[in-house]
Amino acid sequence: MNKTALKVHSRFDVDQVRADFPLLSRMVHGKPLAYLDNGASSQRPTAVIEAVDDYERRHHSNIHRGVHTLSQEATSLYEAARDGLVRFIHARSRHELVFVRGTTEAINLVAQSYARPLMKSGDEVLITHLEHHSNIVPWQLMCEQTGARLVVAPMDQHGEVHVEAVEALMNERTRLFACAHVSNALGTVLPVERLVASAKARGIVTLIDGAQAVPHMPVDVQKIGCDFYAFSGHKLFGPTGIGVLYGREEILERMPPWQGGGDMILAVTFGKSTYNALPYKFEAGTPNISGAIGLGAAVDYLAGLDLDGAHRHEHALLSHATTTLGRIDDLRIVGTAPGKASLISFVVKGVHPHDLGTILDEDGIAVRTGHHCAMPVMDFFKLPATARASFAFYNTFDEIDRLAAAIERARAIFA
Ligand code: PLP
Repeated sequence: MNKTALKVHSRFDVDQVRADFPLLSRMVHGKPLAYLDNGASSQRPTAVIEAVDDYERRHHSNIHRGVHTLSQEATSLYEAARDGLVRFIHARSRHELVFVRGTTEAINLVAQSYARPLMKSGDEVLITHLEHHSNIVPWQLMCEQTGARLVVAPMDQHGEVHVEAVEALMNERTRLFACAHVSNALGTVLPVERLVASAKARGIVTLIDGAQAVPHMPVDVQKIGCDFYAFSGHKLFGPTGIGVLYGREEILERMPPWQGGGDMILAVTFGKSTYNALPYKFEAGTPNISGAIGLGAAVDYLAGLDLDGAHRHEHALLSHATTTLGRIDDLRIVGTAPGKASLISFVVKGVHPHDLGTILDEDGIAVRTGHHCAMPVMDFFKLPATARASFAFYNTFDEIDRLAAAIERARAIFA
């Protein structure tokens, strides 16, 4: 099969890396694009685009059941992508890696298949105040269905979640603890290893929402020790509509399937069906084959990068942005926890975030504005919305300087 040759960058060089991402060289409103909305979705390198293109042009067929050549090729590309992702997060085996649509679907799967059959009135699910709606609403639905209660651990004025504050809410009723690895609205990195250890010591099952972590830091699910870890392909330089649920094999074995249909069964009669082995028990129906192959290509691409260099570059970007934006009068950074990931939420007095986003767009600068699917975080800071610049390793210092200049332009317009 014509697999795209893996490009290797031995030393991190932002100009070289940018050349791998075709979209970064486009113009917006006559200005070079400065793409600072990576927290919402990141761009794809040529390696991902070509892997999907090659699959669509040469290998597409349905997987697993066909004896013909195309079906076998598609199956081996899909399963090779799974193997790449197993290595990427250091899962123990391919049985632990379920392809899903994204983080949202992964968390819903756990809420419905793990938690719902187990929970009863009086039981508690513990989350934190800074969660994305995807790590709130699936638990609320499950609580409505079972009579369980949702308990929320606090954060402080910096957007930091303290281990002791979470531990104080863990008790004999707590059946599950779920939290973000990195907050999408604030950039806070949560001490997930310590939180998981605290939960484990009390027999509490753990889920980590890794949507914002996997693009920014090495993730080792065995080291974290969690039972479940969820993330999305499109924030990890891969396609949309594909993501991963990691689950410890022992716990996935005990769970009933979430959805029924093709591929997740061994045998079906009208009286009874028996279920396929892991991970297929949780992959009912024809999956997003090209998406999985694209995501596999994304982690192969990352494996060819100097990731330490990339992470150092991101930290330098964050530090430059914090200093540069910090100098702007009337600009307030929201989320100031130490050791943040590379994103900055901010508000500018007198300029509504949506107006700010529109003015920045005129200058070719893409940032996100709104509640970032984290309304409880906005309520906590008594804000309707913020603007958020979120960086990837392909961003530059010059883009941050342009961001600062465009914010000054917006201030002048609304002065
Ligand atoms: N969790 C976090 C922390 C996120 O940032 C996001 C997306 O922004 C999600 C969950 C949901 O991801 P998706 O929409 O890809 O399912």
